[in-house]
Order: sequence, then structure tokens, then C-alpha cells
Amino acid sequence: MQVDAIPLSIKYKINYPDEFIEAVKRGEIVATRCKNCGSVYFPPQKDCYNCGKNEMEWIKVSNEGEIMTYSIVSQKPQGFENYKDYIIGIVRTKDGINLMAWIKGQPKVGGKVRLTTDDTRIIGEVV
Ligand SMILES: [Zn+2]
Repeated sequence: MQVDAIPLSIKYKINYPDEFIEAVKRGEIVATRCKNCGSVYFPPQKDCYNCGKNEMEWIKVSNEGEIMTYSIVSQKPQGFENYKDYIIGIVRTKDGINLMAWIKGQPKVGGKVRLTTDDTRIIGEVV
């Protein structure tokens, strides 16, 4: 099937904190938690939207999760044209954080995954 596509150019850069990047390189996923009210943020935030304070601590996110939904990407964005079709899923971790991950294996909604990283992105390996 041929689908017409308009090339897109992304002109902004997401600045993740160094702590987050370093954790991903170690194979870990981290979030921030407000020391004042306990609200947890993923992606990590510097300020708490709940109470307005900016005293955050880093917490490790569980590496066990469940696939909430997924999508097989066959029309790739700019920079990913040479990738084979890949699967992006929304995973809810055991501690209740929803995050986006590249899914490896045969996904199903409600299926369990083990979260890891490949140095640059979060991977959900179907277990
Ligand atoms: Zn707070």
C-alpha cells in the first residue's frame, strides 16, 4: 500500500535533565517526586504542579509493567525511515506511572513487560 506523506522537520529539542539521561544509560528509568506533597512526575519535572514547590527528589521507577495500548509504526517519522516497522506502546509500571516504550516481542494489551533501556530509549520486553 502506498500512502502519501508530507516530510516533517522537528525544530525543537527536548532537554531532559542529566540525571534522567544518566539513568537511561545505566538501564534505569527515573522520575521525580515532590518532597512536599509526594506527587510523582514522569517525565521528570523540576516544579510541582500540585503544590507549586520545587523541591524534588529522584526515584527509581519499577521495571515491571503492563501494556495499556500499542501501535505498530509502519509510516516512520523523519530520521527513522530506514528502521523496520517497530512497536511503540504505553506501559503502566507496577508503581502506576504511564510511559512510552519501544516494545520488543509480541505485544498484547494487558501483557506484561520488563522495562529496560538500550542506552537511548526505554524498551519494554514482552515476558
Ligand atoms: Zn508538590
